[in-house]
Amino acid sequence: MSVKSEAVKRDSESIVARIKAGATITAIADEYGTYPSLVKRALNGVGVDIKRLLPTLANTCRENINEWRKEGKTLDVLAEELGVKRSSLVSTLHRLGLKLHHRERMRSAAVDEATEEVIKYIHQRGGNIIKAIRDLGLKVSESAIRGRLAERGIDLSSFRFSYRTYGDWYTLPGKVEECYVNDKKIYARCLRCGSTGYVLYTNLLAAKSTGCMSCRTWTQKTVRVVETGEVYKSLRKAVIKLDLLPAYQRIRQNLNKSGSYEIGGFTIEAVDPSSDG
Ligand SMILES: [Zn+2]
Repeated sequence: MSVKSEAVKRDSESIVARIKAGATITAIADEYGTYPSLVKRALNGVGVDIKRLLPTLANTCRENINEWRKEGKTLDVLAEELGVKRSSLVSTLHRLGLKLHHRERMRSAAVDEATEEVIKYIHQRGGNIIKAIRDLGLKVSESAIRGRLAERGIDLSSFRFSYRTYGDWYTLPGKVEECYVNDKKIYARCLRCGSTGYVLYTNLLAAKSTGCMSCRTWTQKTVRVVETGEVYKSLRKAVIKLDLLPAYQRIRQNLNKSGSYEIGGFTIEAVDPSSDG
């Protein structure tokens, strides 16, 4: 046995106490001018199992994980501080089910926030989730937002086609009714008369329907002002010219009923386009 080994054995009690207090084998070996392996062997010789004295990486992780999180330690920094391989640290944490960072929770908070933004956006402007994410420049996936909406029982599908203008139609939130093949009925308000109804989406897109039936009837017909003989392509154009716009609805309803109406010294009459020449 070497002198150094004998010295370690002689001092084994104090060495054990110091290791328990956190001293490393390397530091102790340095003090005795030898290698850690000799210290281990010497202590073994007097019945001291060094492995039992040293805190295991698992225990160290369990005891310090909260501290590390608070400090925001990264895996690289921590592995270096603990004198272990990064991979051992990763696998130990994984085995213990511990996560160094609250990344999941942070991500989750970000999704909650993004979901709020998407809801607000779609409530105000209509459209779908993908468009909202893109327009808002959010860094979240559509499925993450969908997940949150489902959890909260929020259905934004009624806003899918809302708040768009097609001619005189202004689409509104409402149940979108699928019909025919690949078509749907969209709830909309006629901006001319304020009436609401369902319009076929393909008709809106193709501009086949640009307002409610009763308004379209009149806008497609020309009108004549009897007193001046002037002909206008629509009632709207006539009332604007005659400065009678506030009375537009009244005139239209009366023309609908009787074909002509007197107002402000003018007699307005409907003209059938086919007989108009
Ligand atoms: Zn209308």
